[in-house]
Amino acid sequence: MAIEPVILSALEHYAYCPRQCALIHTEQVFDENVFTLRGQRHHERVDDPGSEERYGVRVERAMPLWSHRYGLVGKADLVEFEGETVYPVEYKSGSRRAGEPEKIQLCAQAICLEEMLGVTVERGALFWHGSRRREEVLFGTHLRQRTLETIEATRTMLTNAQMPPPVTDNRCRHCSLKEACMPEIGQKHPDYTTLFEVDNETDT
Ligand code: SF4
Repeated sequence: MAIEPVILSALEHYAYCPRQCALIHTEQVFDENVFTLRGQRHHERVDDPGSEERYGVRVERAMPLWSHRYGLVGKADLVEFEGETVYPVEYKSGSRRAGEPEKIQLCAQAICLEEMLGVTVERGALFWHGSRRREEVLFGTHLRQRTLETIEATRTMLTNAQMPPPVTDNRCRHCSLKEACMPEIGQKHPDYTTLFEVDNETDT
């Protein structure tokens, strides 16, 4: 039986906050704030599919990715091919953040490339627009394990249409979904499953 595919970007959302992932991918909520608008602007060029050669390196933009083995679909902002080396690059707005979510998304891209091309992808990079610097990411055992765990946890949550409780910590400060999520209400009403059910309950 085919497994339900998980969109690569959902992995970053889940790793950041499972509730954010459920709001976007189950409830289809998407709010814009200064961070997401910056992200969209920075993504405009890499969202445009195409291929070019730079100093002996072939560069593919907006390359479709998939993994049948792990049930993944999505795309890579950029993949560089130099000899036998395949190197995914994911573009992010703002300055470098220390967390793991972006690395998990990038590692999942590497897992897709390995299955699609029959190669080993040892490392890739996050490009931070704020500092205009690349941060190289090594796809070691720990990150691969965390990525596989996140794939399964994300699939389980989305397949069962679960709505996790809010995290109500520092992550909420920069979250584009804070208004829709209403984390303070979620804490007071831990039983509710979706924002819309809360609205209905309030109306009665
Ligand atoms: S506001 Fe907080 S709890 Fe709600 S989705 Fe964002 S990070 Fe998660």
